[in-house]
Amino acid sequence: MSDFKDLIQSADWKQEKHVPVIDVSEKNKKKEDIKVTIKVGKEIPHPNTTEHHIRWIAVYFQPHDEKFPYQIGLFEFSTHGESIQGPNTSTVFTQPEVVCHFISEKSGTIFATSYCNIHGLWKSEKEISVS
Ligand code: FE
Repeated sequence: MSDFKDLIQSADWKQEKHVPVIDVSEKNKKKEDIKVTIKVGKEIPHPNTTEHHIRWIAVYFQPHDEKFPYQIGLFEFSTHGESIQGPNTSTVFTQPEVVCHFISEKSGTIFATSYCNIHGLWKSEKEISVS
């Protein structure tokens, strides 16, 4: 039996299209807005079809001296070409990229997870300082 944590894959985002790439300022100020952009397929685009697409991205922040992460947001990508005519017949596709904002008084780690409907769970993380 697998341990759940072993199902969450990670890799170099320049070579692996599933990795959620986190873009954020590394140095931030207390009580000032921290803007985070997360994109799947930044270097190599991920397919976006009814059969194969990114379903969601979740973003967490763990302050350095705390045990548990806080969920910043959960973003669903709900349209992938399906219509009343069948799979891949519409012209509308949600793109797997989000921008979110938060504030913090502590430095910590941003974690992002993404889910591909056929290739499972992926993650990445980035340290930020807040002072
Ligand atoms: Fe995939």
